[in-house]
Amino acid sequence: MRCVLISSRLDLRRYLGPEISLIADQVELVEWKKDGDPDVRLAMAWHPSNDAFSGYPNLRAICSIGAGVDNIVGCPSLKSEVDVVRVVDPGQAQMMSGFVAWHVIGHQRNFAGYQAQQRDRIWHSGPQRRADSLPVGILGYGAIGRKLAIDLAYLGFSVMCWSRTPKRPATAAIRSYNGPAGLCEMLNNTEVLVNVLPLTPETRGILNAQLFANIRRGGYLIQVGRGEHLLESDLLAALEDGQLTGAALDVFPSEPLPRTHPFWGHPKIILTPHNASDVSVRAVAATLVTTADAIRTGRRPPHAIDRTLGY
Ligand code: NDP
Repeated sequence: MRCVLISSRLDLRRYLGPEISLIADQVELVEWKKDGDPDVRLAMAWHPSNDAFSGYPNLRAICSIGAGVDNIVGCPSLKSEVDVVRVVDPGQAQMMSGFVAWHVIGHQRNFAGYQAQQRDRIWHSGPQRRADSLPVGILGYGAIGRKLAIDLAYLGFSVMCWSRTPKRPATAAIRSYNGPAGLCEMLNNTEVLVNVLPLTPETRGILNAQLFANIRRGGYLIQVGRGEHLLESDLLAALEDGQLTGAALDVFPSEPLPRTHPFWGHPKIILTPHNASDVSVRAVAATLVTTADAIRTGRRPPHAIDRTLGY
């Protein structure tokens, strides 16, 4: 099946690299054309331009190259009946778990404080905290949030998760919350807050002053969802007044983060350039194959999002 590559930001063919040849007998990659092609039923897209899909009236499905689809679903030329498929890669969830655990343990063990002490040649051993005394709240209990919860619970942390719909937690050590009342209850018990929500109209701006005020004083934010979840001035105010003691930020509304942005030099912020985790090219290729297969056999592709919810 022919698959058109559509991106305003990335050379998708180069991104996929030689590994994509493994599926060449099932999916033929073609470049985007301004005139389009009525025979194309499958696309792979990442940050498509506004008119990207106009010339492709018979598209049945668009595959993302990542877990998130927020850069695709808002495209004005994308028809509402087209399936949008995300990549679900257990290897990515595992990488994210390591990234988040590193920051949670950093807060628990005060690594930033010891780094500062080392710079000043100070030998001072502070109090040591047990993991079970540190409540971690996770916003999002999907493919990635669930893995974070299981692994943090395994490390002994007191783990809570929040989702839209009620969930049965994967282990008895995890507490599950849902809906607005559940969020409030979870935040009241949270010291480290991890955001791994998808970006939708409901979740945009969710990391704001009101939310920060609800978590325990001296809390810590680990933000690996999407930049638009966070109201940046509210974070700076919460850090300034001590409601939060620090934040680890991996995603930003404007990437790369502008060089003049106040986050760069902030002593309580750790920045990473949107690389908390990544999908493997192999998982992307497998998604293309299963989506092409579903189109051929008239089925809904696995991991197609609910277009009304946006994730
Ligand atoms: P999933 O779709 O598997 O899970 C999303 C979770 O968020 C679900 O538990 C869902 O609830 C919950 N959710 C969605 N909307 C709401 C809402 N309004 N209120 C409460 N809960 C809500 O996504 P993934 O776990 O695979 O990925 C999540 C996001 O992580 C991605 O969309 C992306 O933004 C980000 N990400 C960032 C990366 C990085 O490198 N920084 C890498 C990979 C992903 P329910 O289960 O009830 O539907």
